This record gives sequence, C-alpha cells and structure tokens, in this order.
Amino acid sequence: MSKSRYPDNWNEIAREKKEAVNWVCHSCGMQCLKPSDDISKLTKSERMKKTLVVHHADYKPENNRPENLIPVCSGCHLSYHKGRKGNISLGQLSLFDNNNFS
Ligand SMILES: [Zn+2]
Ligand SMILES: [Zn+2]
Repeated sequence: MSKSRYPDNWNEIAREKKEAVNWVCHSCGMQCLKPSDDISKLTKSERMKKTLVVHHADYKPENNRPENLIPVCSGCHLSYHKGRKGNISLGQLSLFDNNNFS
C-alpha cells in the first residue's frame, strides 16, 4: 500500500501546511473547507470539491520538505495526477481526501 510511504505524522504535516495557506488552493485560489466549517449542508461531491489536499511536487510522499508540499483543492490535485502512470491511483487519492474529515 502506498500509504505506508507517508510518514507517521503526515496528518500533522499536511494540517500545518493547509493552515499556513489559510485553506486556499495554491493552483486555482479556491477557498476550501476548514475543519471548523459546517459541512452538514454540503453534498458529498461539494465536500470533495472543496477539500484541500497536500500534493507532493515531485510525486514522492517520502519527500516532505516544505518546498515539496503544495496545498491544492481535490480537483486541481486530480489534474496534477492525471496522465501519470505507476503512481498513486485515483481511488487512493479519494481515500486520502476522506481522511481529512475522519
Ligand atoms: Zn484548485
Ligand atoms: Zn498529489
């Protein structure tokens, strides 16, 4: 499982990065959901769309240097990964997205 390539404190690292940019997508500038936001009125797809995830610029989850971490919304994140082979699958991506709200 590729999740094992992530460090134990990945959630903390990602959280810090997202807070540093105030939960705004680095790529399209969309304001994404913060943990404090009320998401009860949003549909699942709205939630997914406005979920900020932390992307690895070199596609290597082991490399968690600050300059390698890019906070993007899930739509932009998918487009980063589209067309790439042998890396993380889209199914796994959405798994990580869900983890943001677990
Ligand atoms: Zn975006
Ligand atoms: Zn990514």
